[in-house]
Amino acid sequence: MKDAGETACDVAVVGGGATGFAAALTAAICGFRTVLFAPPASFPPGRTAALLQGSVDVLSGLDVWPALGRHAAPLAAIRLVDATQRLIRAPEATFHASEIGLAAFGYNVPNGDLVDVLKRHAQAFDPLRIVEAPVQSITLLEGRAVLQAADEELSARLVVAADGTRSLARRAAGISVRTWSYRQSALVATLSTQYPHEGVSTEFHTETGPFTLVPLVGDRVSLVWVDDARSAERALHLPGDAFARAVEERSHHIFGAMRLDSAPALFPLSAALANRFAAQRTVLVGEAAHLFPPIGAQGLNLGFRDVAALRRLFARHRRDPGEPAAIEAFHAMRQADVRTRTYAVDCLNRSLLTDFLPVQAGRAVGLGLAGSVPPLRRLLMRQGLASGRTARP
Ligand SMILES: Cc1cc2nc3c(=O)[nH]c(=O)nc-3n(C[C@H](O)[C@H](O)[C@H](O)COP(=O)(O)OP(=O)(O)OC[C@H]3O[C@@H](n4cnc5c(N)ncnc54)[C@H](O)[C@@H]3O)c2cc1C
Repeated sequence: MKDAGETACDVAVVGGGATGFAAALTAAICGFRTVLFAPPASFPPGRTAALLQGSVDVLSGLDVWPALGRHAAPLAAIRLVDATQRLIRAPEATFHASEIGLAAFGYNVPNGDLVDVLKRHAQAFDPLRIVEAPVQSITLLEGRAVLQAADEELSARLVVAADGTRSLARRAAGISVRTWSYRQSALVATLSTQYPHEGVSTEFHTETGPFTLVPLVGDRVSLVWVDDARSAERALHLPGDAFARAVEERSHHIFGAMRLDSAPALFPLSAALANRFAAQRTVLVGEAAHLFPPIGAQGLNLGFRDVAALRRLFARHRRDPGEPAAIEAFHAMRQADVRTRTYAVDCLNRSLLTDFLPVQAGRAVGLGLAGSVPPLRRLLMRQGLASGRTARP
């Protein structure tokens, strides 16, 4: 039963990042009365996300991809370079999307453009109501959740927690989270290049983490430079020209002269994994459920797979998407994928950092085989993309 003063809806989504907007649009498209709590957010201009085909499918399903397409740079190939000075090094390997019959492995998009396009689409979609205020509290009652934000009180059958790493909605549902940190930070920036990138994303593996240059629209690349925390902090304070020279050197001058397009931003690396992905009329999506280092373009892709799972949930639980059976089903749907990706990224990062020779040798042999044995190459490429891919944009 609803108290006087509360308005009611079926689905309340908390958080106006990419996963929050996508989840809210999904719920509204599936016919649920949906309210999204999305306080205005901004992104450093250098922050981009490489979206794999599964994410493109999710965005296409929301009819958002056509507007986003012009901001998206196709990733036609991925080049891995072992730039360590170690005794055992892997040979360079380049994987082409055409080898597995695709035009691109995915598309690199600026986070700001992604959220802007999602937001404009959500604002124009009448069945979805947006409240531009943060949720201040959530109370879980029999059969419903009550959310409080500014002068709004709303009851919902299901709460979608898309409110990032410090999720209030996750806490309200009593879900605990395991966190750990790394002694590394990621520097991000966008740079103009003298030579075209030709759709090739290049990842240099170094002793302190991967150093990646991902194509952007035009002769521009986005940089994700993972380094030990102190060196990253030092590089952050370099004057613009010196920063660009450091990037040229680290990238072995493959793009010729480079120029900074955006001020570099620093992200200390940490990880978090929720102990459950749903409980008490609440499901977790995006970084409310999982956080890990930006290695191998996995974070937001995993978040969009949470949203894809939500769509399947909505199809099966039309009457009450927050009923206990729906909550159990969502947890079961997300367990394996989220845990596997989190630990895989953690292992990959640690395998780069370790001085333990057998691990270095294993990584070098693995990469060598991946680069030179065609069936293994194709298997790895498909595994890397594994995300319920169904269609091209
Ligand atoms: C350097 C870097 C590079 C990356 N590159 C890639 C990549 O190439 N590919 C990839 O897939 N992923 C990448 N990621 C990961 C990706 O950026 C994140 O997974 C993604 O942005 C998380 O989105 P989200 O919507 O889950 O969370 P957020 O973007 O954190 O959104 C959460 C939102 O919730 C709001 N909020 C918080 N509390 C409340 C409240 N009480 N009420 C209402 N709203 C609230 C916040 O204001 C925020 O807007 C990268 C990450 C980093 C750091």
